[in-house]
Amino acid sequence: MENIKISTVCGLCGGCLRAINTTKEELNKGNSVTIFKEIVHNKNVNNSLAMLGAKTEDDIAKLTPDNIAIIRAHGEPPQTFEYLQDKGIEYRDCTCPNVSAIHKKVQEYSNLGYKIILLGKHKTKMHPEVLGTVGWCNTDCVLVEDEEDISKLQSYHNDKFYLVCQTTFNMQKADLYIDKINEILTQNNCEIVVNKSICSAQKLINQHSVELAKQSDIMIVVGGKNSSNSIELYKNMSSICPSIFIENIFDYTLALKEAGLNISKSTKIGLTAGASTLKEELVELKDLIEKDIQKA
Ligand code: SF4
Repeated sequence: MENIKISTVCGLCGGCLRAINTTKEELNKGNSVTIFKEIVHNKNVNNSLAMLGAKTEDDIAKLTPDNIAIIRAHGEPPQTFEYLQDKGIEYRDCTCPNVSAIHKKVQEYSNLGYKIILLGKHKTKMHPEVLGTVGWCNTDCVLVEDEEDISKLQSYHNDKFYLVCQTTFNMQKADLYIDKINEILTQNNCEIVVNKSICSAQKLINQHSVELAKQSDIMIVVGGKNSSNSIELYKNMSSICPSIFIENIFDYTLALKEAGLNISKSTKIGLTAGASTLKEELVELKDLIEKDIQKA
């Protein structure tokens, strides 16, 4: 059906795919595998790995040497790796290379005497990537999620700062905050080196989805409700056209109803997904909507 389109770029990113494939490879070799914390914020992916035999464990104390531990793409603080080595637990480090690059940089700059500014989610709940990155800072790390946090920087004078971003931080907010931070620190005679480390996978998904949203009557975003990049994507889509956000493709009719939206053969529907969702789910959703519209 011509009117239902899937965003050209969307769905599972290279970092998450790598972690999932590594898990599958280990299982295929016959190894017992425990994923340390949810591999991606996507129930379908997590359930399918569980069906293949992978366990998931949130408590590090419950990891044992008879299972290979998988470190997910969000990364972990160095203490996690030290713990695993101490306990003789074999692990596969699937930290996304983009996240590892941030870890290396904050470590390098903090060792040079720079304080770290990290733009990332930490208020309602510390985002796992933020938690990991903070662990790699060998000096003060100022967390900035909103404008209120920026005011904390007023108390620093004649200091050196290195700024990084959570890879899924909102691009517009980052630009705005970086300008404000620059202004305060320059006034206070501080030096600042900025590394706008927002992931390009995010940027591309967003750019392509925005283009599709502009040509659509309704956008459907599929992703985990605890996935920051999916939440951001949904917010962006909603600012362009009426949108719904679903975790499970079979929930789309209910979500449309709750949003007071109706679809027909002539409705232009755009489908997109955050970086933790398989694109195959969108293909399935497209088929489902097409069948439902035909039946109606
Ligand atoms: S969104 Fe980007 S940084 Fe995050 S895991 Fe995927 S590729 Fe890596």
